[in-house]
Amino acid sequence: MKKLVSIAICLAIFQLALAQTPAEKQKIETIIKQMTLEEKVGQMTEVTLAVVAKGGGGNQDGSLDPAALKKAINDYKVGSILNTTAHALSVDTWRNMMTEIQDETKNTRLKIPVIYGLDAIHGQTYTLNSTLFPQNIAMAATRNTELVASAAKVTANELRASGVRWNFAPVLDCGRQPLWSRFPETYGEDVFIGTTMGAAGIKAYEEDGLKNITAVASCMKHYLGYSASRTGKDRTPIYMPEIEMREYYLPQFREAVKAGSSSIMINSSEINGEPVHASKYLLTDVLRTELGFKGLIVTDWEDIKRLNDRHNVAASPREAVAMAINAGIDMSMVPNDFSFYDLLLEAVKNKEVPMSRIDDAVRRILTLKMKVGLFDNPYPEDAAVANFGKPAYQALALDAAREAMTLLKNDNKVLPLSKNTKVLVAGPGAQSISAMNGCWSYTWQGNQEEWYPADSKTILQTITEKVGAANIVTTTGKGFDNVVNFDASQLKKAAANVDVIILCLGENAYAESPGNTTELALPEEQLQLAQAAALTGKPVILVLTEGRPRFITSIAPAMKGILMAYWSGKKTAEAIADVLFGDYNPNGILPFSYPRSMGEMVLYDRKPTEDVREVFNDNIKTGYMPLFPFGWGLSYTSFEYSDITLSNTILKGEENLTVSVTVKNTGAIDGKHTVELYSHDLFASITPNMQRLRAFKKITLKAGESQQVSFTINKNDLAFVNAQLKTVTEPGDFELMIGTKKARFTYAQ
Ligand code: BGC
Repeated sequence: MKKLVSIAICLAIFQLALAQTPAEKQKIETIIKQMTLEEKVGQMTEVTLAVVAKGGGGNQDGSLDPAALKKAINDYKVGSILNTTAHALSVDTWRNMMTEIQDETKNTRLKIPVIYGLDAIHGQTYTLNSTLFPQNIAMAATRNTELVASAAKVTANELRASGVRWNFAPVLDCGRQPLWSRFPETYGEDVFIGTTMGAAGIKAYEEDGLKNITAVASCMKHYLGYSASRTGKDRTPIYMPEIEMREYYLPQFREAVKAGSSSIMINSSEINGEPVHASKYLLTDVLRTELGFKGLIVTDWEDIKRLNDRHNVAASPREAVAMAINAGIDMSMVPNDFSFYDLLLEAVKNKEVPMSRIDDAVRRILTLKMKVGLFDNPYPEDAAVANFGKPAYQALALDAAREAMTLLKNDNKVLPLSKNTKVLVAGPGAQSISAMNGCWSYTWQGNQEEWYPADSKTILQTITEKVGAANIVTTTGKGFDNVVNFDASQLKKAAANVDVIILCLGENAYAESPGNTTELALPEEQLQLAQAAALTGKPVILVLTEGRPRFITSIAPAMKGILMAYWSGKKTAEAIADVLFGDYNPNGILPFSYPRSMGEMVLYDRKPTEDVREVFNDNIKTGYMPLFPFGWGLSYTSFEYSDITLSNTILKGEENLTVSVTVKNTGAIDGKHTVELYSHDLFASITPNMQRLRAFKKITLKAGESQQVSFTINKNDLAFVNAQLKTVTEPGDFELMIGTKKARFTYAQ
């Protein structure tokens, strides 16, 4: 009880820290009253750094063009600037840039500071020597929400030290379409994981109150349904019934609003023929009225213009501007020119956009600036520099990468390897850093290796550190683009004197359209290399550095071990070697179903008719038959569950139900383990999911140790969206599942 009271007090203080004081509100109203229409429209304009950089977009040294800066800030009165140069800049360069920008705002009539935004989605890696964490998909494999929060805190510190107070993160898109080119940026296919980890990140970014030098404003993105494109290609149409949208894609944003996120970025695409940037229903009715979101709505890249020239729903660029602003957009990431500014001025003068909408948008922009302390001090804070690049951050990045490692197969306990093993290291991933750093890492797309920090390690290097150079044979060229005939022909000879082959396959980092693909199988040359490796007769361990599940069905049976390493950031190679050689006991579990083939892309929370069962009596099985199921991941030790005990077999009304299980580490070494609680509504008014993840807990158990793990759930944890689009829990029988253990109870209203 005491604990509950103190949590409540902390929450109240947290809310208070975020709330605006009457004096602050008054100050904003006073500024708005003084502002001209031009100044207001300028605040709603966001341009990219290239617009003000010396030498434009190609410039790499972070120097700004004074005339361009004056034009943006004095002539066009822009409210925001975003983005980075093509590669990382030093802390000092960032701080100088931010200082020059804010200096320029001092020459304007009202001296309104600029808010700067960046995509630090898995670390502030646009600053040299910052910390690069695993991509969300790998963080989801850790099932460690505290780790997500700690990583977000480091990112906030390193952004703030660089003078940046607005982070375009977290990505809350649900990864239910593995073809989608931004799948690695998601927390995978489950709603609950995305909701929990997304909210944890937001609280960590914003937790201390945004005026604090350890906090940044978050920006949940990309509202709504962006990840569900029909083709999987970036920014292509989504067709989605509202029942599906509300069940799988909206809860992450609802929870993020509750967690206090200050801003939101919009899906560049269209749902059921309506571009989301023009959807008053989604931007105003659902987001503002239903979810109660009070923060800033920013477009994604060039998306207002695209209502006209891409989506073709606005007959002119000015109509596009009016459409988006009237639908609820507050700020336009224009970002390459000032066209939006001119067009919005015209639209307001022509009464196509009401002044009340402009004032509303400007109020939200100024409120955000005030919340992050820009009106108190717009300059990079000196004290924030001490929070940059602490040695503990690298240790945290290593912890995160290690916890992400997901051991998918370990035939006859081929792993871990002894450090006397003579190994052949092969495959294009062995010397590719791109495939470990992932996207939005130092560079946007992430595969320009020449810009990576000099101390980045390859898998070949970290394996060599384990076994010594004398025990290593390599057969590989560098990188995924020049695979592999060389490797295949050399393999047999090279393998003659080794004990084991470590084969590193996967994909180069990508983001957005460069990640578009028509084929999820690993490229043919890589599959051939795996076959050639297996034909040597030596045991092959497959290490996958990939952002989404690329099909490996044709080669998996011939692999003795398979380690899914994802794109786990700067420490990926160290984590891989630690797992392969037993210095770390793997505990990551899949945040997605690893499909077998294109024709078999069923998700774990499948409907009854998608479950594995015979169709009629003809002995043909259909359903959920992935290569590796959601939640799959092996350990070097073993865990056993007791039967599930329930505090009651009837759950009434608003009461709680406690679900417990005792977990024992029955193996010989210590290990971490995630206990997951799934529910299944046996009969419901619409077809129930066969499984829904409702809670998870990660525990550490020494060899031989047992621990009781309990979850407390209530009716809200069992809810689903019904045909009337209401989130409900219907009375009836439910099954709970933890591992292979099951228990039933009845929910009665
Ligand atoms: C991406 C966003 C990103 C923005 C700014 C867009 O292309 O879709 O996720 O925040 O660029 O870099």
